[in-house]
Parts: sequence; structure tokens; C-alpha cells
Amino acid sequence: MSRQSFWNATRILCAVALAISAQQTNQQTKQQTKQQPEGDLGFTDTPILPGQKWHVHDPDRPHARLVTPGREPGAPPSDAIVLFDGKDLSQWEQRGRGADRGKMVPTQWKVENGYFEIAPRTGELFTRAKFGDCQLHIEWAAPAEVRGSSQSRGNSGVLLMSRYEIQVLDSYDNLTYADGQAAALYGQWPPLVNPARKPGEWQSYDIVFEAPRFEGERLVRPAFATVFFNGVMVHHRKEILGTMVYRRVATYTAHGPEEPLSLQDHGYPVRFRNVWIRRLAGYDQPER
Ligand code: MG
Repeated sequence: MSRQSFWNATRILCAVALAISAQQTNQQTKQQTKQQPEGDLGFTDTPILPGQKWHVHDPDRPHARLVTPGREPGAPPSDAIVLFDGKDLSQWEQRGRGADRGKMVPTQWKVENGYFEIAPRTGELFTRAKFGDCQLHIEWAAPAEVRGSSQSRGNSGVLLMSRYEIQVLDSYDNLTYADGQAAALYGQWPPLVNPARKPGEWQSYDIVFEAPRFEGERLVRPAFATVFFNGVMVHHRKEILGTMVYRRVATYTAHGPEEPLSLQDHGYPVRFRNVWIRRLAGYDQPER
């Protein structure tokens, strides 16, 4: 056999071996499919779940959409709207003053070193977008230099729908009224525990908020908040009594199903970073 013929024969043998191997793999796949237990992808001869329209293990029930989680704890997952990524406040605005009164204007709060800082007495910050039911992640730091006491120390607030305040305050070794300390549903419920870090250190809130429901002017379901403060649960689906007020009992006034998120300017240079939000929908959303 010439050298050329030898190589040609080798090539043919290799091709035949590959074809046989591919056929075997194909047969194995078919066998595996056949071997998959009956009903492994669901059943239609099972009972209907009480209060639901689905059979137990219903094969037609929509599967949960895929979401890529954040790279590390606290980082935004793929379906989050990033409200501040360390660079700019383009997703936020403030109420205009003077000649700009009645208009919303670009914010004057300061952005530096991956965070933004309240420019005291310039007014609250509002998101340009509106939100209802949501999951919110926000990190904040009270000024490292301690000045003042009680409510006059690093006071700010996360106002869901521009109304329902989760208090921001330096609550490390700082006595104030209980329903006004950090992570309180301000004026309504103190946090269950106080896991505050020292002033100047970064703290996190992870909030699940259920917006109130109105029919016309009538409240038909109040708002609820679940809050984790530095990873520690401090409210568990706690009912909110109404719009934040001082020295009064909060009540509801009807508003839209979505409203801007706002951050309070209480006159202290509190810092914020890594802010993201997810709009929440119920179970069994269509697959996409
Ligand atoms: Mg406040």
C-alpha cells in the first residue's frame, strides 16, 4: 500500500468510526427520552390546587422566567432597573425653585467616588420613573462625623411612592423615639431589632413593598412593607397606616398605582449608593 493509499484508508476508517459513534449517541438520547419517567413534566389527572386553577404538578403551568442574579450579594439582578450605578443621577430629578418653580429640574445632589450625597436644603430627590409593588435595594451612610442627637443626626428617608417612609437616621448609639429610629416605618412601627452600623459605614436596606390599592378615593387594601436592614429582617409584611406625618396618625389619600420613589432631604449630607429596583408581579406570569 502506497503512503497515499494508507492515509486515504485511515481517513475513511475515521469517518466511519465517527458516524457509528454519532448514531450510538443518537440512539442513547432516544433511549434516555423513552426512559424518562411518565409524568415527569407534569400530570393532568391530579387534583386542582385549592383556590388555584392549576392541577398539582400541572404541566401547563408557566415556568418562572430566568433572571441572572447579581455577581455578588447586593448587586443588581438582570431584571432590575438600576437607579444609581455610581456614575450619575440621570434617573432622578428635583422640584425646581425660584424661576423653575412648578417644574422638575436636574438634581443638585453631589455625585463622587461611586456615591451621591444630599445637597442639604435643596429638596427631595424623585425618580423620573414611577413604581408600585417593588423590591428595592439601597445603601446609605450617615456622616462619619457625629453632630447633633436624636432626629438631628444623619436624618433622611426612603419614601416609597413619595409617601411611605422607611426612616434613614444614624441610629448607632443615638437615642430617639423608637418609631423614628433607622428602618422604622416612620411614626408607626420601630424596627424589630436595631442592626445599625457606625456612622460613616455603609448600611443596606432591602425592601419589599406592596402598594396600597384604591377604588376611586376609597382604600381597598393598605400598603405593606418587608424590610431587611443590613441583612437583618426588621419588618415582615407590616401594614403601613398611611402617608408619613409628624406628630399625627398617618392616613391614606388616594394616588396613582405607580408613583416616584423619593429620598428625603432633612438637611444632612447622607450618602447613597448601589440603588436598584425591581417591579414585582404575581405568580404565573407568562413565560418570555
Ligand atoms: Mg427621615
